[in-house]
Amino acid sequence: MTSRTDLVEELMSRFPHVPREAVLKEDLLRGGLAFDDAALTDNEHGDVKPKSYFIFSFDHRTLPELGTAALRRPPEEIVLTGGPYELRRTVVSVRTNPSSPYRVATDGDGRLRLFLDGRPIADVGLPPMPAYYRHTLANGKSVMEVAPTIQWGYLIYLTAFRVCQYFGAKEECQYCDINHNWRQHKQAGRPYTGVKPVDEVLEALEIINRHDTDRASQAYTLTGGSITSQVNGLAEADFYGRYAQAIEERFPGRWIGKVVAQALPRADVQRFHDYGIRIYHPNYEVWDKRLFELYCPGKERYVGREEWHRRILDSAEVFGPRNVIPNFVAGVEMAAPHGFTSVDEAIASTAEGLDYFMSRGITPRFTTWCPEPTTPLGRTNPQGAPLEYHVRLLEVYRATMEAHGLSSPPGYGPAGPGRAVFSVSSFMDTLPSTDS
Ligand code: SF4
Repeated sequence: MTSRTDLVEELMSRFPHVPREAVLKEDLLRGGLAFDDAALTDNEHGDVKPKSYFIFSFDHRTLPELGTAALRRPPEEIVLTGGPYELRRTVVSVRTNPSSPYRVATDGDGRLRLFLDGRPIADVGLPPMPAYYRHTLANGKSVMEVAPTIQWGYLIYLTAFRVCQYFGAKEECQYCDINHNWRQHKQAGRPYTGVKPVDEVLEALEIINRHDTDRASQAYTLTGGSITSQVNGLAEADFYGRYAQAIEERFPGRWIGKVVAQALPRADVQRFHDYGIRIYHPNYEVWDKRLFELYCPGKERYVGREEWHRRILDSAEVFGPRNVIPNFVAGVEMAAPHGFTSVDEAIASTAEGLDYFMSRGITPRFTTWCPEPTTPLGRTNPQGAPLEYHVRLLEVYRATMEAHGLSSPPGYGPAGPGRAVFSVSSFMDTLPSTDS
């Protein structure tokens, strides 16, 4: 039987122009990794920054199935270097999977290493606990709960609304566990604020701003579930927009303001911009028409794929095409029961979507699909998509970008192997090097 090491090395040699770091990172993101107890954190009381569960679970097991990792959280991210593949510095978001062939553990010399099939393949660095996580809000809430940071401290992730109004099997995106993640944290008795009050967000940002003295944090993302009716009496544009308005009033220009929201009508998109947001992520999720209809039933029913795409193009007139960065979930193209069964077909479809947007100056980006076990597609596809799909996507993404004269999108930090901090896919690790 072919080992995972064989698979990884075969793809590294078939695609030598894709950085080795990116091949490993994609495999870790699609399949997760296990932790020895010694590699777990002491939650908010230790020296290592714990996993904040900033929106989805991004785990391959439910909390009760994670064992010690449910009590002592794993780190938010790890950084890999060295080893037999001579890895340059690679930041990887942590997706826990106790049965993964990848394991973080200490070696005989007490050093933390990443093992694959029992063989050490990289040195592992852990994110230090940021000074701002050691402080709490006046009401006792932690900064990690209200305003966690990811991407090695670059991005403040503000999930203002922790659930989605696309609810249940007929509406939720078939790969999304936002609603389950909310339930499981509540059941575990963890603090998990459903709707974050604006003044709490401002207070947490005040703490970050005060203690982030080297200004590692450069951007904030406002996001959460879709709002099809209202939350706090506000529709989606005003609900998310008022956070940006308050942040920009208090800290003008301190961070790049981004919002991940639905593709809204142009007047609403203009309101986002007027509130001070500078980058808009109207995520199109999956390009193929049939798969969008089947895997994003709520979005299809309330908005519809063609209208969604039209609104993305319209929003480029408000934000400028460079600042419209719609996400797709890389891998669900190949998810059974309805996905493509060959990598060639899946890549061809994904490339068509990239070309559609990039030919208009809009640069999509992607997160690597994590098949969470409580989602319909996670249940039917526990192994996720083939690693070859993810590697070839990196290749076609860069080629399409270059064909249209585009460069790495703004708001993602530096690009290039050894420099990127974007942690939930390796597209930034694969692009030519830049400083910001
Ligand atoms: S719109 Fe879909 S992907 Fe986004 S939070 Fe709702 S269910 Fe999840």
